[in-house]
Amino acid sequence: MSEQRLAISADGDLLAIYNDDLRELINQGHAEIVRASHVEPCQCTEHEGRGLWSVQMVNGPLLGCFSSRDDALAAETEYLAAQLFD
Ligand SMILES: [Zn+2]
Repeated sequence: MSEQRLAISADGDLLAIYNDDLRELINQGHAEIVRASHVEPCQCTEHEGRGLWSVQMVNGPLLGCFSSRDDALAAETEYLAAQLFD
C-alpha cells in the first residue's frame, strides 16, 4: 500500500486525496468527495487524435498533455499533494 497523507484544516476536517483505501475511514463519518480535475483524452489542436491525455484542474491550471493516462494521473496527484500538504 502506498503512503497515505492527510491534512487537517483549521475547522478540524481531514483532507486527503481520494483513493479506494480510504473507504473504511470515509464510512466512519461524514465525507464530502469533490472532483479536483478532469483527466481526459487531449483535445488540443496540437495533439488531437494522438492518444494523449490532458489534466485540467477544476478552478486551476491546465497541467498539460501526457503520453499516458497513468502519467496524467500521476501529475494530477503530484499537483494536489503540493496544494494540500506543502
Ligand atoms: Zn494536448
